[in-house]
Amino acid sequence: MRISDDPHEAAAYLKAGKIVIFPTETVYGIGASALDHTACRKIYAIKGRPSDNPLILHIGSREAIPSFGEIDKKELLSLAPFIPGPLTLILKKKVAELFSAQLKTVGLRVPAHELCLEMLKQVPFPIAAPSANLSGRPSLTRIEDVIDIFGGKVDLILKGEDPILGLESTVIDLSEDLPLYLRAGMVGFDDLLPFLPNLKRWKGDEKESPPSPGMKYRHYAPHAKVIIYQTIDEIMPNDSFAEIGFETTKKGLLSKEVLTLTEYARELYAFFTLSDKRGIKEIYCQEPREGALRDALLERLQKASRASS
Ligand code: AMP
Ligand code: MG
Repeated sequence: MRISDDPHEAAAYLKAGKIVIFPTETVYGIGASALDHTACRKIYAIKGRPSDNPLILHIGSREAIPSFGEIDKKELLSLAPFIPGPLTLILKKKVAELFSAQLKTVGLRVPAHELCLEMLKQVPFPIAAPSANLSGRPSLTRIEDVIDIFGGKVDLILKGEDPILGLESTVIDLSEDLPLYLRAGMVGFDDLLPFLPNLKRWKGDEKESPPSPGMKYRHYAPHAKVIIYQTIDEIMPNDSFAEIGFETTKKGLLSKEVLTLTEYARELYAFFTLSDKRGIKEIYCQEPREGALRDALLERLQKASRASS
């Protein structure tokens, strides 16, 4: 396995049907050519990912989106403020050969990460890449964790700036008549509303068949039990707990105080991963009260706490 900081080398590996882990602005991705179904299936095996959970296809420019998915040109132009960026569009698939886990739609995203874009611009096809994490575990946001968990299991790791956002992309579905906000992320529902006035939130619970297959799976959960707290008097100190939030007791084996929601989002997964490495049993996470990122963070915290309760 190679560790390289050269996007051209990473692109050459992808063209040769290899598996490459690369940084994006959201989290690390584990990718392969979307035209190489054998390589795509290898990603599922490495992650232990259920086979019906599709992969996001990453491309190097907004202009390339209509080559792969059906989208109204005006609608695409109106979304320009978010692309490149942490926004995935689910569109009707235009190229039958693209890997899409048997669906008639594809999820397309243009990452806002310079090195990643340089790599993507070298390849003439989309790169199918879910988050680089073992299925059900927290996504990875630090190169040292990527090497720790995936070292030797993939062909190349592209080394560059670690993800600055720290949570997975927002997912919206534009394949039906009405646009649907499926997965909360850094691009909030309210940010999109001026550009997509008909946008609706997906309200189903996890038992219904969700329009985005990935939403029915456990996600983002560390081995430790995750407990959400509002104020620090709810924290029951014990000999194996960690805490992250705006206020903490400072008595945890790990205590991380954040100043902003942006910092909370950037640090959360790395904190989960570090807590697991230390064998910590309980992680207290403060509920974000307000702010644009509240939905995105709360969605991850609730999934993590449900998975471990
Ligand atoms: P990940 O990249 O691991 O964060 O997961 C990708 C997310 O995008 C999952 O929740 C998938 O279910 C969702 N996704 C990707 N492609 C599609 C698609 N064609 N239709 C619906 N959801 C999709
Ligand atoms: Mg994932």
